[in-house]
Amino acid sequence: MIEICEVGPRDGLQNEKKILTTETKAELISKLIDAGIRNIEAVSFVNPKVVPQMADAEELLKILPKSEDIRYGGLVLSRSGLERALTTDVDFLHVVTTTSDSFNLRNAKRTVDQAVEELSKVIQEGAKSNKGVAGVLGTAFGCPFEGEVPLTKVLSVAEKFLEAGCSEITLADTTGMANPIQVQTVVAAFYKQFGNDLSLGLHFHNTRGLGLANILAGYQAGVQRFDSSIAGLGGCPFAPKAVGNACTEDMVNMFQGMGIETGTNLNKLIDTAQWLESNMNRPLDGMLMKAGIA
Ligand code: ZN
Repeated sequence: MIEICEVGPRDGLQNEKKILTTETKAELISKLIDAGIRNIEAVSFVNPKVVPQMADAEELLKILPKSEDIRYGGLVLSRSGLERALTTDVDFLHVVTTTSDSFNLRNAKRTVDQAVEELSKVIQEGAKSNKGVAGVLGTAFGCPFEGEVPLTKVLSVAEKFLEAGCSEITLADTTGMANPIQVQTVVAAFYKQFGNDLSLGLHFHNTRGLGLANILAGYQAGVQRFDSSIAGLGGCPFAPKAVGNACTEDMVNMFQGMGIETGTNLNKLIDTAQWLESNMNRPLDGMLMKAGIA
């Protein structure tokens, strides 16, 4: 069985021009839960002036359906994000840094080492509260400004995050630069350094059409947790080069076709993708929602 972390409500919606109401976001998440999704990156505690799509994190968390077996994650990029997160009942903090200095300086105005130093304290405090903490390492498979990101750098950031108290690590291919052989190499290096018990997840964007190929490569290398977004949401056509996440229902279709359990209902996922498309006022990227189940 694989585990899906649905990131459409966060990574998807934050990259869409249209801003959904808090109620519509809650309806989306309820539909995902009804389709069997149990792990959802629902919000981001980022400056609302920078990302207005995510400004309603606290409000949304208040109205989401709660249950023991449902896990809501929220992105935390700084100490101020942590402080906001700790006032909510979000279950997991997804603490993010990229692993490339050029990318990090442009997006967070600090080097990777500076980010890791601040975020290690954020992770320690988060872990001391009753929240789970996951470390998310962006540009883990390449940086659009630097090109190759040394694997030793990615491993060393992961080591510091795990030491600080992260119970899991997700490697993110922020701008869709990974290829399947590289995925297998990186995953093997992670299990070699941290052991096979490491809770490792993968996060791919379909920027160059390799989302599902990279997911399959990761699965074959032993990974069981994958981020994806319903209908391949994200990557608004008005934002050049921004392309959505690997698509949830397309990924489920691939795994189900291979006889691998996902715990979800594919028909309900497709219904949700089509419902979402009608709310976004633009065609979304998912394939199965157009082609149907074979
Ligand atoms: Zn992403």
